[in-house]
Amino acid sequence: MDEMTSLGLSGDIIVVATKNSGKVKEFAHALEKLGKRMTSLYDYPEIPDIVEDGDTFAANARIKAKTTGDLLGVPVLADDSGLRVEALGGDPGVYSARYAGEEASDSNNNAKLLKELELLGSIYSDEELSDGSKLLSKAQFVCALALYDPATGAFVEAEGTVDGIITDKPHGDGGFGYDPLFWLPQLGRGMAELTKDEKGAISHRGEALKVLLANLEAAN
Ligand code: IMP
Repeated sequence: MDEMTSLGLSGDIIVVATKNSGKVKEFAHALEKLGKRMTSLYDYPEIPDIVEDGDTFAANARIKAKTTGDLLGVPVLADDSGLRVEALGGDPGVYSARYAGEEASDSNNNAKLLKELELLGSIYSDEELSDGSKLLSKAQFVCALALYDPATGAFVEAEGTVDGIITDKPHGDGGFGYDPLFWLPQLGRGMAELTKDEKGAISHRGEALKVLLANLEAAN
């Protein structure tokens, strides 16, 4: 019996309900020590796009986990994540993936974020980074996770955050999404400059995964 089965989940696979290759890599990395086979929606092309119409990250994660789990009949881990920018009143929030439009690319979304902050004339601090980058606004990445087991109907949930500052120039070419514009003053580096291990140790997703595993253990 492997560790996850002993924690009460049915079967020996977990499907991660995402087609975002950046997230698949981060989840696979974090979950590999659990001894379950991890698959993603890339392996189930028959699963339709799920309408994420919740008002919160947690509600969207629950919708994705339950819809996918009920269709596939196996435990499903779903996340909903995004960026809250203080100067924009928390936007783009649950709309992070489609900030610049339904089919927006990461670079479209980053360009829109910089444009909105520029329109506001937002400056977080008069200090500049050593490469002359300006610090535009405090921001936070948020990740809500929901693990749903259709065999029992039970959910285990968790949330993680990481604080940073949006810069007017990109730093690094790792990660995905808004990572190039997300500066970590506590590390003096950009999120896109971190290795996968470094990002997993401090990121909203890494934090949420740690809390999820603790909650899963507490539930059993
Ligand atoms: P979701 O797939 O609905 O959770 O939308 C997540 C969106 O938020 C992504 O498309 C990214 O734009 C952004 N996002 C979430 N997590 C991260 C991250 O770790 N780095 C950068 N952007 C992220």
